[in-house]
Amino acid sequence: MINVEHLSKTFGKHEVLQNITTTVEPGEVVAIIGPSGSGKSTFLRCLNLLEVPTSGRITIDGADITDKKTDITKVRQGIGMVFQHFHLFPHMTVMDNLTFAPVKVKGMSLEEARSKSEILLERVGLRAKADAYPSKLSGGQKQRVAIARSLAMDPDIMLFDEPTSALDPEMVKEVLAVIHDLASTGMTMLIVTHEMKFAREAADTIYFLDSGQLIEKAEPGRFFTKPQSERAVRFLEKVL
Ligand code: ADP
Ligand code: MG
Repeated sequence: MINVEHLSKTFGKHEVLQNITTTVEPGEVVAIIGPSGSGKSTFLRCLNLLEVPTSGRITIDGADITDKKTDITKVRQGIGMVFQHFHLFPHMTVMDNLTFAPVKVKGMSLEEARSKSEILLERVGLRAKADAYPSKLSGGQKQRVAIARSLAMDPDIMLFDEPTSALDPEMVKEVLAVIHDLASTGMTMLIVTHEMKFAREAADTIYFLDSGQLIEKAEPGRFFTKPQSERAVRFLEKVL
């Protein structure tokens, strides 16, 4: 589904991603962990070209997004992204937040977009909030709306960058439950997270990044019990 070859990214002289090579299979759920500043967000953002790689090649479902001839807008439509801060449209109701892009970008009829959105809101437990404005929602509810809004575009891949880091502790669980549920539907997902228990339970694969390098790539059971690198051992000592 995603093929990354020798990906590097530099900002000025700072090499933020160093020669990353990996493959993500369809339906695979990857949790990306590592210290602050290790390049997790930059890696995720390279996958939909929010950051342009300095070198290397990334193909998404066969399309080489690092090739200037590729229609990136089309590739991006297949990739949903959810950020730490929810970025909902504040002047629109929850329902309008969900229907906006499918109608404007995909040309879906408003009727179809609304009935799809109702199903998605049901799925994230917010059917009753369809007519509410974002300002009336809790952080956890906002993030669940943001997830439903991404899903309204029918993505093949979902990227999450610390989706629970801005939430009060009591709201973390409800958002992780939605993401976990999505993981079990076969969606291909990459999730940057500091929630180690969630990473262990929900992910098929853990990527451990440190100083721009993909230091370890392992199945969670192995990573959390027998990390192979000294750096991962030290990181886990701090966070577990
Ligand atoms: P993480 O998400 O793991 O905390 P980031 O990918 O956000 O790490 O950042 C990795 C490094 O790249 C950091 O040192 C950060 O300061 C730097 N960086 C990120 N974005 C930019 C940018 N637009 N310009 C310059 N440096 C950046
Ligand atoms: Mg980050």
